[in-house]
Amino acid sequence: MIKQYFADLHIHVGMSESGKWVKIPTSRRLTVRGILQEAADRKGMNIIGIVDALSPHVLADIKQLTEEGLLTPVNGGGYIYKERMLLILGAEIETREPGGGLAHTLVFVPDIKTMAAFSVYMSQFIRNINLSSQNAHMPLQQLVNIASNFNSLIIPAHVFTPHKSIYGVCCERLSHILTDQEMGKLAAIELGLSADSNMADRISELADYTFITNSDAHSLDKIAREYTILAMSELSFQEMAQALSRTAGREARGNYGLNPRLGKYHRTFCTGCGFIATADLMENCCPECNSKSLVKGVFDRVNDIADYPEPHHPLHRPYYLYQIPLEFIPGLGKKIKDQLLDEFETEMNIVHYANHSELTKAAGNKIADFILSARAGTAAIAAGGGGIYGRLVKNIMDK
Ligand SMILES: [Zn+2]
Ligand SMILES: [Zn+2]
Repeated sequence: MIKQYFADLHIHVGMSESGKWVKIPTSRRLTVRGILQEAADRKGMNIIGIVDALSPHVLADIKQLTEEGLLTPVNGGGYIYKERMLLILGAEIETREPGGGLAHTLVFVPDIKTMAAFSVYMSQFIRNINLSSQNAHMPLQQLVNIASNFNSLIIPAHVFTPHKSIYGVCCERLSHILTDQEMGKLAAIELGLSADSNMADRISELADYTFITNSDAHSLDKIAREYTILAMSELSFQEMAQALSRTAGREARGNYGLNPRLGKYHRTFCTGCGFIATADLMENCCPECNSKSLVKGVFDRVNDIADYPEPHHPLHRPYYLYQIPLEFIPGLGKKIKDQLLDEFETEMNIVHYANHSELTKAAGNKIADFILSARAGTAAIAAGGGGIYGRLVKNIMDK
C-alpha cells in the first residue's frame, strides 16, 4: 500500500558527538542525535537526509548510533529511527566550473559502507573532508561520473541561488555542461528557499525531473521549514529512489516551501547600499548608489534565463504549497509553541491537521486564524532580498 511521507533531505550537522566542528558557525546542539530527535519527535518528519555524512566524524557518530540500536539498517538502504523515521546518508559537495562558478550538489547513498568508500575516494580531491560542503576542485560533470559509481542519488542543490548553484552562477542550461546521459543520472532537482515550481517550470530541460523542497537547515529549529511529500510503500532508500524517478506508483505528491518572497535571495540586491529591486533592472549597476555590487535575485535570474514567460507544468508535477513556518507567525513565541506541541505532539500535526477550535483552545483565536490562513495559502507576505528573509505582513482573514 502506498502511503505519504514528509521528507526533508537537506539537513546539516554542526558538531560531532566528540565535540569536533563539522560546520562553522552552527550550534553545538546540531549533532546527529539532536537532529534525529528534533526531526522525528518535534517536527514530525518521516524521512530526513543528513548532508554531512561525507565527514568521517559524522559517519562515526551514525555508526555509533547503529551500535547503540537507536538506528536500524533497512534492507532497501537507509536507517530507521524509533520505527517511524528514515535516515538517508548524504553529502553536499561543491563543484567548480572552468568559468569559476561554484555549485552545490547533494549525493545520497544507501549505507555507511558505501558512504565510507565514497568519502575515502573524494578525500583525494577535497582538502578537509571533515568539514561540511567542501570544494571538490572539479566540475559537476566529473562529480556526476564519480558519484554514479557509488549507487547514489545525485541532486543539484538550491539550483537558482546567487552564490553557489548550478543555474545561479554556473550555466544557463544543464545541457551546456552535462551530456544527455549525464543529465539522466540526476535523480531530482532541489528548488531552494527562494524558488518554487512556477519559477523552475519556465525552464524546459527541467520538465522530466522531480522537484524536491528541503530546509537546508543549519540549526534544529529550521528543520522542516521546507519538505516534500513522497508517496512510497515503505521507508527505504530504494523506495525513495523510485519515488524520485516516479516508478511503480511511487512519486512526489506535493512540495511544501516558503513563499519564494519569504526567501533571502528572491530579488536582486546591492551589497553596497542595501537596495532591493522591485522591478527588472536595465543596467547592471545599482540605481541608488551606482555601485556594481549587485547580487542577482533568484526571481531575476529565472527571468533572465527562462525559456517560457509563464510556467509549463508537466503532467506529473505535483502541487507546490506555500507554507509559513510557525516561527514566522506573529505572537507565536516559545511558550505558545510548547503549548501547541504539548497538545498536538509535532509541528506537522499543528500545520497540517489540527482544526480551528483545537488550535484556539491551545493558542488563542488569533494564532489559530494565522495557522489556518497559512495552511490555505492566503496569508500576505512582504518580499525578501539582500540576505534578509521576507516577513508576514498581515493576515487577510484578520481585517
Ligand atoms: Zn548549499
Ligand atoms: Zn546546505
